[in-house]
Amino acid sequence: MTQLSISNLSKTYSNGVKALDQISLDIPRGMFGLLGPNGAGKSTLMRTIATLQEADEGRIRLGDLDLLKEKEEVRKILGYLPQEFGLYPKISAEVLLNHLAVLKGLTKKKERQELVGQLLHKTNLYDDRKKNLGGFSGGMKQRFGIAQALLTNPQLLIVDEPTAGLDPVERNRFYKLLCELGAHCIIILSTHIVQDVKELCSKMAIIRQGKVLVQGSPLDLMEEVQGKVYKKQISVDELEDHKQEFEVIADRLLMGQPIIHIYSEHPPGNGFIPLQVELEEVYFSHVFGKVGK
Ligand code: ADP
Repeated sequence: MTQLSISNLSKTYSNGVKALDQISLDIPRGMFGLLGPNGAGKSTLMRTIATLQEADEGRIRLGDLDLLKEKEEVRKILGYLPQEFGLYPKISAEVLLNHLAVLKGLTKKKERQELVGQLLHKTNLYDDRKKNLGGFSGGMKQRFGIAQALLTNPQLLIVDEPTAGLDPVERNRFYKLLCELGAHCIIILSTHIVQDVKELCSKMAIIRQGKVLVQGSPLDLMEEVQGKVYKKQISVDELEDHKQEFEVIADRLLMGQPIIHIYSEHPPGNGFIPLQVELEEVYFSHVFGKVGK
């Protein structure tokens, strides 16, 4: 299957905010994590790929398809779960899904009912299909969002910050659903939660202020930072001095005492001890440190 290829995509809003600044990404089949702090430009990028918003310059291609120009064609192969979507609270999941299927052009009743049933099973909502959507939990709503995004059997599925507000059990169930789907299509998952990417994605990018800071597989990115992150427990009044002297990428509390993490190409001495890096350290090193800059 072909990959999604984004090149030199830029967008400046009318208020002067440069939300996308020469973004280039290659996104293969499977789950791709787009990680970045709030305001990084993730939603702008998601909406642009989903043909809901224009870019100022750049290209997005999926094989021969030009996503910025052939919007009608793109919509036939695209599933989109936006960050927030309204649901009619007083109708059931089954009725709404059926209705949305009609709007998507699935006019043959028998086929439509079969598909609606399949999708309700797939998203584990079949037993709740007669319940009104207003009574759904956050996780059930997100799974309904996926069910509607799958009506077109998409090659490209875009999910924008899907796990915000889900409890751990719901989040896990949602992860599993995404993973199953990732075997057959390209899924772009935008999130500010490192854990989402760590558990799900074989490829990822970190963006900030509209720019790609780094892209690759989480393992390779961890390998690059391995051995260069150190930690030290300090007292509260030492914090400012350490911030001046070292490249502090995180400061946290452990039982009320600050612990700092620093990025350093060479052993810093000074009581610092090396840290076994996880994806969090990759993220913090790039977003708050000067790696690659
Ligand atoms: P993210 O999804 O990573 O939080 P967004 O794409 O929502 O980032 O926003 C990127 C930047 O663009 C932010 O500075 C945001 O305030 C700005 N922005 C987003 N949408 C608009 C808009 N419609 N008009 C003006 N500025 C916007």
